[in-house]
Amino acid sequence: NIQLAERIGRIKPSPTLAMSALAAQLKAQGRDIISLSVGEPDFDTPQHIQEAGIEAIRTGKTRYTAVDGTPELKQAIINKFKQENSLEYKPNQIIVSSGGKQSFYNLCQAFLDTGDEVIIPAPYWVSYPDMVLLADGKPVIVPTTQEEQLKLTAAKLEAAITAKTKVLVLNSPSNPTGMAYTTAELQALGEVLRRHPHILIATDDMYEHTLFGDQLFVNILSACPDLYERTLVLNGVSKAYAMTGWRIGYAAGPVALVKAMADVQSQCTSNPSSISQYAATVALAGDQSFIRTMVAAFEQRHEFVCSSLNKMDGVSCLPAAGTFYSFPKVEGMIERLGLADDTALSGYLLDKVGVAMVPGSAFGAPGYIRMSFATSMANLEKAIERLASV
Ligand code: PLP
Repeated sequence: NIQLAERIGRIKPSPTLAMSALAAQLKAQGRDIISLSVGEPDFDTPQHIQEAGIEAIRTGKTRYTAVDGTPELKQAIINKFKQENSLEYKPNQIIVSSGGKQSFYNLCQAFLDTGDEVIIPAPYWVSYPDMVLLADGKPVIVPTTQEEQLKLTAAKLEAAITAKTKVLVLNSPSNPTGMAYTTAELQALGEVLRRHPHILIATDDMYEHTLFGDQLFVNILSACPDLYERTLVLNGVSKAYAMTGWRIGYAAGPVALVKAMADVQSQCTSNPSSISQYAATVALAGDQSFIRTMVAAFEQRHEFVCSSLNKMDGVSCLPAAGTFYSFPKVEGMIERLGLADDTALSGYLLDKVGVAMVPGSAFGAPGYIRMSFATSMANLEKAIERLASV
């Protein structure tokens, strides 16, 4: 009779990973399943980055590194911020972690006391609330509507702020919605934040590079440079360079906060994989043309998926600005099929037509479903045909 810690009762295993595992299990049993639940590019890590990893192994880059990242990788990250985001950082403002997920986890552990509130606009990335809960913080979920393009408005932000608010989380382009904030929208949020100087802003820019067309990436700091002192920028190589398995994420922000995050990391994982850090240095500093090729494929798939979803009875889908997700509202479909909710719909679609997708409630948005199009056009065509048949 194992007595687990009370905090374990507060969290659930990642629902997106669970759905991907279930789809893989059914596939292994011989079922014809199309998995549209994955949260990673279906591309291989570019060759020159692979080679850097192999080279690192061969040349003995296989020992502990500085806990918060090698000097070379930190410099590549500093250069990236300067060139792409016009942001200036010093090495002691940068931490490299085992994935973007660990960066956010470090933030929660280093920054939150019991009962501190973290404002998380919904739909949200599944892990934010649970990482806040693990740090004894209180997630304050702010739902948004399709009319608001599933983005947080200034009015809703203002209404959610209390004396206990410690962090606002922004994620643009967003997993799961694919929506991105405009400069004007971020400026409106910035105006509210200026009235509440006790709030730290955590901007998760993980999908920075997966923007369609010629849109320029913007975040809260490009819109409101004066918020620099109270903003932590989170990013990583997982999605931009198809490097999810390498586990390299990074964050940049106030010296004291970044130092505390490194202290947390030093007592749980130490440095991220030395080999992955060498590969990530080459990813950030080397040829970037791969990104264009990958994102062009995502954009083409998005056009097909989004327009096809909108033709289905009871489904309505906003066109995404980027990422490899569509997040249609499926309330009409749930009703038409006489099902209870989006979780029941996702079970039904898996069972009846062999299409695996993650229910919106996993992202704090009941009545929606997340479709990942990080898979081949042939798979997507088959999946859409099946979905149209129900
Ligand atoms: N942030 C967002 C919005 C994500 O979707 C993910 C991955 O799914 C991450 C952060 C973390 O990515 P990783 O830990 O693989 O670097």
